[in-house]
Formats: sequence, structure tokens, C-alpha cells
Amino acid sequence: MRLPVALINWDQEKAFDRVNHKYLFEVLKVFGFGKNYISWINGLSTDDIPFESGVRQGCSLSGGIYVLALEPLLHRIRMNPKIPGLMPPGGQYKSLCDKILLPNEDPIIKAIGYADDVTTVAFEIQDEHETLHMFHLYNRASGGKINVDKTELFWISNWLDPPHFQARINRDWCIFLGVPLDNNDRIPDNELIKLVTSIKQYIGMWYSMNLSLCERSTVLKVFVSSRTVYTFSLTTCPNRIITELQKICNKFLWSSLRRTININTLVGKRIDGGLALPHVKTMIESYRICFGLRLLSGVSVKWKFFALQSMAFKLRIYDPSLWSNLIPHNNVGDTLFHESAEATRKWLANGKPMALPVRGRDPSIYWHLIYDNSFQLPISYLKMPVLLTHRFYKFLIKLNLPTRVFDVWYRLANYGLITRSLWGKTPIDKRCVFCKAEESRTHLWTKCPFFEPVCVSLLNYVCTTVGDINVQRNEQTIIYLLNIDGRLTPPHLMNLARLFGVYIHVV
Ligand SMILES: [Zn+2]
Repeated sequence: MRLPVALINWDQEKAFDRVNHKYLFEVLKVFGFGKNYISWINGLSTDDIPFESGVRQGCSLSGGIYVLALEPLLHRIRMNPKIPGLMPPGGQYKSLCDKILLPNEDPIIKAIGYADDVTTVAFEIQDEHETLHMFHLYNRASGGKINVDKTELFWISNWLDPPHFQARINRDWCIFLGVPLDNNDRIPDNELIKLVTSIKQYIGMWYSMNLSLCERSTVLKVFVSSRTVYTFSLTTCPNRIITELQKICNKFLWSSLRRTININTLVGKRIDGGLALPHVKTMIESYRICFGLRLLSGVSVKWKFFALQSMAFKLRIYDPSLWSNLIPHNNVGDTLFHESAEATRKWLANGKPMALPVRGRDPSIYWHLIYDNSFQLPISYLKMPVLLTHRFYKFLIKLNLPTRVFDVWYRLANYGLITRSLWGKTPIDKRCVFCKAEESRTHLWTKCPFFEPVCVSLLNYVCTTVGDINVQRNEQTIIYLLNIDGRLTPPHLMNLARLFGVYIHVV
């Protein structure tokens, strides 16, 4: 039989707004903040109107201050002998605790906080009662308020008695620190669907706007990455969802345009000829590696007790002391821990750094992975290696072109500009808008009489500015024009590029 155990997610009403300032400053004093610092925070939070409670929303300090304000509550819960808490697997062994925790740190888990979410563990009704009592004390001091009817209990296994206060009870799944989780550590299907639908909806609002490729890529970064980072760094993500999210990205990027540039180029950095299109699978893999590297790092965190069971076997060659007979281990499965162990093992086996990058975390792991596994150079680099030497795309970005014009150049350089010769079915369809010849890319750049004056003026301009150089009107010249940056000043170039870009865009 499984031990009856429940997680309680306590709902705090308007947690940030309710923090009493007197209480807050007392807390800061106890934490050892100096007078000047406290009065500075006071100044920040009051401005002209003397608010008596609340942590200013949107102020980057407020998150940290709120965490400090909440700490006395968590501390009281941790110190309360009437709340037994959960002993993690292996937590009873001193040698393992010495390895994972700080000296004298208690392995028992009683309360976990993330911003204003507080989750506690309860084995019986007495634990609940005592925890509620701690909240009442905290509320009296800080001005906080518990919403019992919005508080949720997640019964992980058989439960003995119903709680003695009005709370929602979940048996199949709950939202744990902001992430929906079921009994098997997975996001329930309907929650996954909700997540995907909400991403689709957010992106959908941008469809009607006439955005350039770069702008669309930015929209994707904002709505796909931001809404998935936290969730999928803490839980597994089924492959079908990864595929679906990627499809959403690709579809939105191109919208009504024909897809002409390889996705493996698009996922690269902009200076390398990509558009930084999110690559969902790699993004998730980078979270896994991040997780694995944290296990190997010296950081003291209690989840390591749980993670070691699934991860220590695979990662033991990188840190033999992780491997202990004191905790059970399992080597197979498709859980978050197993995925993390496998991704980290691959990462380290490829000679990649063991420590997390200093600033930020996954972005550089992400880029490492993209450049190792996916990125393909733009076609223009492959066809004209000289452009690669000159870092053509970096230069293109430096020109600061209007985004539409950049698009044209970007697609042109990637051989991704569709002309009528490609989409037309009949000879009439394929005809140039300006003359009777077939409208191929080569035609536009080298033959079409309509473009003659523009091209001639461009070529003349380059020849007279640069001097002894013989530039012909041909396809490569167009790209080449932008590349003579050593001798032309960017403003001149910019005007040329803009002129041409606008011209082609109109076509
Ligand atoms: Zn023509």
C-alpha cells in the first residue's frame, strides 16, 4: 500500500498587493539589510503617495522583495516539529546529505515556494491543520490572506480523511508551482491541448498584420518560447506536441509566402544568415542538459535526491560520488530525469563544457546544439564562398535597413525570392510584368529593360566611388554590391540597398 500523501497548493489572495510595509521593513531589518538600503526601497515603493501595502508590480526588485517577505512563513513551517514533511529517498543517509546539501541543511521537504505559489506536503489532517495555523500567523503579521476555497489539495495516493476546511480536491492532476502535473509526472493531455491552443490564439492575432520575416520570427520567440520555457523545463513534452509547435512556428513564419528557405538555415542566428526561428526540439533538449549540469554542479537543491535515482547511473562517470548504493536506481524510462540524463550524457560525451554558461543558462547550450546538429549555411555562402569571408549577413544587418527591405535582400541572398517563372503555370503566367520575357530571377537582375536604369545607376555609382573596378550587371553583382563595405560608407550603401529592396518588393 502506498503511504497517504497530498500536496497542498495554497492560494494567496493578491499576494503582492497585500504585503504590509511595516512588516516588510521589519523582515528586511531581520535579514540584515542596512538602513540606507531599506529607506531606498521605501522611496521606490512609495513615490508621492504613501502606500501602506503592496510590492510594486513590474518593478524588477519586487519579486526578490516578495520572496524575502514570504521567507518567515516558510521558515516557520520548516521549523515546526508538528509538520513532519517528506523525507526524500536517501535523505536518511548522512553521506548522501553531505554530498547534496549544505552542512547542517535538513533534507526534509515541508514547503516549496515559487513567487506567490506555496506548496506544502501533508500526510494527515494534523499536518494540514498546523500548516493552516502557520498561514494564519503569517497573515496576521503581513496582511496576507488565504483563499481556502481556491486552495487545492492533490491526493497523490489514498487519503484518509477529507480536509477540515473548504478546498478543492484533485485526484488525477494538479497545478504544481504553475505547472499542471498528473500522478505520473506528466502534463495531462487536456492541459497540453490548452497550451497549444493558447499559443495558436496568441500567434493568430498577429497573422492579419503584414509583418516581415524577421518580425514574425520575433513574434514566435515571444509567444512560443516564453510560454513553453518554464513548463517544459520542468516536465516532459510528448514528441507530437514538439512537432505540432514546430509546425505552428514554420507555418506562421511563412504565412502566405511560399516556403523557399531551408528550415535548417532559418534556425541559425541572424548574423549567420538565419532568422533565429525557434527550433522546439533543440530548445527542449537544451533545458534537459541544463538540468543535468545542475545535478553535476555543487548547487544544493533537494530535488537531487529524486533525480539521482534515474540520473546517477548514466552520469556516474562524470561524478562517481553521485553513484550510491544507498538509493535505489532505475536506468530506463521516459521521464524528465531520464531524458535529462541522456541529453546531458550526450552533451558531455561530445566534449562540451561541464559547467553552465555564466550568464543566462540555456541560450548558449541551445546555440551550441543548433550549430552542431541543425544549422546549414545559407545557399549564397555555399555558392559564393567569398560572401562567407566577408560575413555578408552581418553586414546586411549593420545596414539597418527597413525590415521589409531587409526581407527582400534576405530572401534574395538565400535564393528564396519567388519569381513568376517559378509559380506560373502557363507561359503567360510566367511573363515578366514589365516586358514579354519569362520573369526569372536572372531576368530581373540582368536582363529586364525595366530595371536597366536602376542597375546602371547602381553600377555607375559603385564604379565611380570605388574606382578601378569593373562590375557587370549580373546576378552575383547584386549581392556583391552590398559586400564592398570596406570602401563604401554605409549611408550610401544603405540608400542603394533600400532603393533596390523597395523596387523588388513592389514587384
Ligand atoms: Zn522584364
